[in-house]
Order: sequence, then structure tokens, then C-alpha cells
Amino acid sequence: MHLVFASPSALGSAFVGPFAPADPGRFSILEKMLLAALIFTSAALFWKRFGVVSDKILKSRKDPGFHLFPIGRRAWDFFWEVLCQAKVIRERPLPGLAHAFVFWSFLAFALVTLNHIAIGFGIGILDGIGPIAHHIPAAFANFYFGFAALFAIACSISIAGLFVRRFLVRPKWLAREGHQLSWESGVIAGLIFALMATYLASFYVADASLAARLLWWAHTLCLLVFLPLVPHTKHLHLILSPATIFLSRGGFSQIPALSGDEDFGLVTGKDLTQLVSLQAYSCVECGRCTEHCPAANTGKLLNPKEIVLGIRGYLNEYGPTAEELLLGKYNSQEAAFQCTTCGACEFQCPVGIEHLPIIVGLRRGATNTGAWEDDHGGKLFNVLERNSNALGMSALERDKFVQKQELPTFDGTQEYCLWLGCMGGYDPKGREIIASFVEVMRYLGTSYGVMRKEKCTGDPARRLGNDLVFQQLAEANLEAMRAQKVKKIVSICPHCVRTIQEDWKEFGAPPEIEHHSEFLARHQARLPQNNTGGKIVYHDPCYLGRYRNVYDQPRAVIAAAGELVEAPRNRERSFCCGAGGGLAFLGEETGERVSHVRAQELVATGATTIGAACPFCNTMFRDALAGTGDDPPRLLDIAQIAAAQLPKTAVN
Ligand code: SF4
Ligand code: SF4
Repeated sequence: MHLVFASPSALGSAFVGPFAPADPGRFSILEKMLLAALIFTSAALFWKRFGVVSDKILKSRKDPGFHLFPIGRRAWDFFWEVLCQAKVIRERPLPGLAHAFVFWSFLAFALVTLNHIAIGFGIGILDGIGPIAHHIPAAFANFYFGFAALFAIACSISIAGLFVRRFLVRPKWLAREGHQLSWESGVIAGLIFALMATYLASFYVADASLAARLLWWAHTLCLLVFLPLVPHTKHLHLILSPATIFLSRGGFSQIPALSGDEDFGLVTGKDLTQLVSLQAYSCVECGRCTEHCPAANTGKLLNPKEIVLGIRGYLNEYGPTAEELLLGKYNSQEAAFQCTTCGACEFQCPVGIEHLPIIVGLRRGATNTGAWEDDHGGKLFNVLERNSNALGMSALERDKFVQKQELPTFDGTQEYCLWLGCMGGYDPKGREIIASFVEVMRYLGTSYGVMRKEKCTGDPARRLGNDLVFQQLAEANLEAMRAQKVKKIVSICPHCVRTIQEDWKEFGAPPEIEHHSEFLARHQARLPQNNTGGKIVYHDPCYLGRYRNVYDQPRAVIAAAGELVEAPRNRERSFCCGAGGGLAFLGEETGERVSHVRAQELVATGATTIGAACPFCNTMFRDALAGTGDDPPRLLDIAQIAAAQLPKTAVN
């Protein structure tokens, strides 16, 4: 670092104060020409790949129904997820912070880099000499060089840490299936480290010295090698991911509407939309999605990172106008249909990739064109069309249950329409949950009624990609609700809640709906709290937690009844029960059963009761617990837990 102030006139120094990198001296015409040629070469190599990538993205199909407005949400996501790197840090705090420092250093170095190159042409910005530099106060230049130096230190430490993690610790999620550790990450890390080191070293050498000159050239060469490597490697996310986050569909697992009779979902390259292509090229291969995927964790073929990279591979080989099937060389149908749509992948992704529209899009492509042939799937679609419920039972069975429980019919005068759903209407355990919830509603004096005829919401058809069946069910239900003047619905099933509230919007405005956990928590003060339930571990259902952001309400119900125990993976990181995405109806899984893995985790907490808040989780754990030992914990829905607290005399 300069110890003596070196003015531009004295010593031939270009810099303006003591906290500045050494002045490399004046550059000859030959050096300037060499610099220009190197910059041109670097930029040309950059564009050679970036031009191809941007062309593939832009030539992809436009996203139907995409709107830039309202822009406030996009601006916030950009600020929070890109500038603050909040998601990167939140999900993996230590490596996340290291990544964030590298990113922030890039931002801090934008001006330093501009100044660095400008000095090579004798028009420095912060050097006190050039035409612009004359207008920039020396104090600002000094401050900025010091500021950048602090980031350079943080960035050097961070990149060294990330290098150690990737190449020595080697978490398995970072590697790609069937691929060696990527050399390119090592080269990029080395270049970033060298950029920071040469910048910092230049504070310690004399102005206009040979060392200063060599450091300047070393820094420049690192920059010019780094630039074209970016689009040729996964570091393309440096450029694309800010756009990916800004342009994302927003919300969670937003399945776009099909754009007409000729749109069957993601069938060939022609169906890839600009957002899907942009996302495919933005993947940084961090493996966070795979790390949390229940399918990948239980030995299935499905790996969400490989799904995204499969789309990228397809685009690289065939492009966005190709007729080749998307489910072929780069992605398999088997993998696409192993997804429980739990959303852990999409929730985790730090660069805004929306896995569920892609996976459901691929399923749509296979199902809507008849390419997916599955006995269980075919049977499910048949019974949905014929019986209008996923369990394939006669509607009379539901009527009998309604009569037996003396459930009033909704006639427009009651406050709530109690939505039974397929599980609540037909499944014996689901009916027990409904019966308990009704006990609570009666205790509270809440008026409710059930619809005379209720069809499945279409959730399994929607997630398995059968748009026709989904549309028929959604439209019929919406029409019935309009006719019966339903304004407010309460449901025990998070899948029904999600499908009614979000997916039905494609066909009309659905009534307001809430999950029974929200209802119970809101009425908590009027419910008895005996606290006699013992230790109760709560399992967050994916469609209630990640999909609806409801975490505290079911916990409040449990805490009023007993001692709430947390599973190791809880709240946003909860591990799926294996039922979602229509998989509850698709027969045997390959590999380990997702429900068994989760049930064992819940049993290992030592709780005497497992608290569920979804009839699908309930049914999956019921089977899984049968194999966990002689004395498995009790399995209860939160409605049953709340009902057990009621004074027996008060129960009808
Ligand atoms: S939604 Fe869940 S099961 Fe499907 S790929 Fe993502 S993490 Fe895996
Ligand atoms: S899809 Fe997202 S979470 Fe998965 S590897 Fe790529 S960047 Fe990481």
C-alpha cells in the first residue's frame, strides 16, 4: 500500500491517494493495440456461446399469459433474492454466505474493472487524470478502492472455502450423475481468486514499477479469460439468473394454462417456452433441489437437477424448434411420473427455476398425447370420469356417510360449505377426520353444510397431466358451487384447498377456501385446552406448508393438546409422505418407500402421537407405521386431536 501520497504530476503516478492500487505507468501504442485485440477476442469468444444460448431462448415459444405487470413483486424478488442473496443464504447458510460474498464482490468490482481497463487506454476513471476522473473527487476514489479491497478479501476467503467444499469435502449433491467433478469450477474459482489476489497485491507495490505493470497485466488476462468461460460453463447463471428470478411466474408451482386445442403440454422442443429455456440455462448445478427431493432420496430414477439439465441438453442438441420428443434421450417418462409434486425442489432453487411447471408440463405432454400408458393411471382417469371421485366408489356411498353423520346439506344460508373431498367422503379414515372436525364445528356453533353432489377437485388428474379430466371436474364443481351460492369453503385436505384456490382459477373464480387447521387455530381461544395429549410430533404436509405457507396454525392446535415435538425435517424442509402428484393412486414405488422413510423419522422422535393435517399423509403413514414395530405411535389428524379435547357432554 502507498505510504506516501503520490500526485499525478510527481513520480508519474496516475492515482490519487494512499489507499489505491499501484499505478502501472503509461502504456505504449503497441500495448494498447494488444489490449484491444485481447478484449475483442475475449468478447468474440463470449458472444460465440452467449449468442447461441440467447438465440435458443428467444426462439422458444412465447409463454402464454405471461405479464410483466404488476412489477412490484418482481422488483421485490429481484432485490431480495438477487441483490440480498436471501434464498442462497437461508437454505445453506455457510456456503450461501460465501456465494453471496462472491456475488457482492462482482458488483463492487464493476467500477474497479471499468477503471482498470480504462487505465490501459490512458482514460482511467478513478485515477485523477482522465477526462472523467477530473470530475470525481479523490476522496471518493480512495474510499472506493478501499471498499473494493474489503470485498476482495471476503471474496478470496469465500472462493477458497467453496473450492475446498467442492473438491475436498465433495457433497454428493454437487456432482452430476455419471459425470466427473467439473474441472471448469476449479478453473473459474482459480481465476476469481487470482483476480482478487492481483488487485490486493497491487496495493503493496510501487507506482510505475515492473511489479505494478505485471500485476496489471495479470489482472487483465484473468478478466479476459474469465469472460468467455462464463457462457461456456454453468457460470452462465451469473448473467441469466437475475433475469430468471425477475421474470419468474411468481407464486409457487404455478401450472400455466394450455394455450388452445393444439397445446398438449411439453411434448417436443416446439413446446418449450422462453421461461423454460431461460431456466434450463440458468441452472448452477448446485443440487439443492436433488438434496431435498423425496424421490431422489429413496432410490428413484427422478432427479430434479437432471430434469432441468435434461432440458438444457435437449436445447443444446436439438434446439427449441425441434420435433424430437422431450421425453426421450434427455429426460425419461419414468422419472417424470415419479414426482410427488412436493415442491421441495422449486422451494430450494436459488436461481428461480420452477420445476413443477416443467415436470407437470412433461407429464401433460405424455398424458394428453396418450404416450403415457399406465394401468393404475388409466384406471384412475376412468373412475374420475365415471364416478367423479378418485377412489372409484359410487356417489351413494358418500350419501350414506352424509346421512349417517347427519351432515346438513348446504343451502346457501350456512356460513361454510364443508368440502368432504374424495378422502373425507369415501375413505374410512378420512371420514373419521370429517366426523371429528364436525364435532368441533358443532361445539363452536358454526353453521355449515355439505354439497349435495361433490366431484373430485381434479387434483390427481391435474398433477398427472390429464387436462381434459381436470377441466371437466373443475368446471362441474364451479358450476355447482355457483348454483348453490357457496361463498366460503373449509376443507380437511390441503390438496383440495390448493386445487380449488389456485388451479380452478383457469375456469372461473373459486369461492374463498381455507384449510381446517386455519379454522381451528382461529377458534383456538374458544376451544378447551386440556394438554393431555402427551408428546405429539407434527408432520408438515407439502401442500399445506410449502404450497400454502401454513406452518403455525396446526402447531397451535397441537400445542393446545399436548407437547409439540418437531421432526428433524420440518416446516419448509418437511419431507413428503409420498402421496402427492397422483402417486397415491399409482401402485408400487420403485426403491425405498417415501412414506416409510418419513414414518421412521417421525417415530424416531419418540413421540406417542403423530399429528397429521392431510388425509393423504394419514393414509400413507397408516400403512407405513404398520411396519415400524409392535407399538407404533398413534396417528391422528389435528381435527381428531382438537375433538379429543372437547368435553364429552358437549359432543353431539
Ligand atoms: S416436486 Fe418433490 S418429488 Fe418432484 S422433483 Fe421436486 S422435490 Fe422431487
Ligand atoms: S435446478 Fe436450481 S436447485 Fe437444482 S441444481 Fe439447478 S440451480 Fe440448483
